[in-house]
Amino acid sequence: MRFVPDHDLHIHTKLSPCSNDPRQIPEAILAYGVTAGLKLLALADHCWPATQIPVLRASEPLPQSKRCHMIFGAEVDMDMNDQLSAPISDIEALDFAVIALNHLHLKNYCVPNDFPEDALTHKERFKERLHHLLSLDLPFYKTGIAHFSDGLVCTADPIRCIDLFSDAELIDIFQKIRDRGMGVELNLVPGRYSAGDLDSVLRPLRVAKSLGCKFYMGGDAHHPDDFAGTLTRKMNPLIDLLGLEESDKLPFIPETIARLEAEK
Ligand SMILES: [Zn+2]
Ligand SMILES: [Zn+2]
Repeated sequence: MRFVPDHDLHIHTKLSPCSNDPRQIPEAILAYGVTAGLKLLALADHCWPATQIPVLRASEPLPQSKRCHMIFGAEVDMDMNDQLSAPISDIEALDFAVIALNHLHLKNYCVPNDFPEDALTHKERFKERLHHLLSLDLPFYKTGIAHFSDGLVCTADPIRCIDLFSDAELIDIFQKIRDRGMGVELNLVPGRYSAGDLDSVLRPLRVAKSLGCKFYMGGDAHHPDDFAGTLTRKMNPLIDLLGLEESDKLPFIPETIARLEAEK
């Protein structure tokens, strides 16, 4: 059975500084989920020094509908000293955590101000951050690795930065992700890339699939207008390009939907 696009676990509200859109509130997000026929939504505002998880909890209590459930998550970051942006106890208390390790455009936070611009330095740093994360004691079953191929990993040379990962390096990383039970996020717009670049950004996801990693959808909306293309421009093309089946889905998703349905 084809992977059913029934969830979105990476959605920003107005509390994220890069949204700051008064229309982007949980009620509007729930309306999107209902309209799109989704069953499970997770908020994932940026957990940064000024927006720690207790601050982000201002979104609670979350609205719910009969057909669509909303859970509380966050997009956790990692600083230049490899410290996660939230204490592990706060991450454990989340319903779901999206973990972003490739926001390397955030100078003076994820990297020092004088960090070199070249693709190789960015790729090596991203790789080190991935292995560090995967060495931690986290509730990985309810976490996901955000936008692995995101251009922000190296704004000067993003495709080359991904190309610099050898297959063996990707296998090393995604075997650990699989073994920890962490999800792999589907979060890119295939139509934005040339054929060659699309092969580059899909390669990590294809390696992940070949190793038996489990996937979840992360639309990464920051504004209500972003929702329009989540399924049509991002998820359905990605599901087809990767040939994803329902069995490739992160187990957290059907388990959480079933639990919330039973609680009703
Ligand atoms: Zn992000
Ligand atoms: Zn995000």
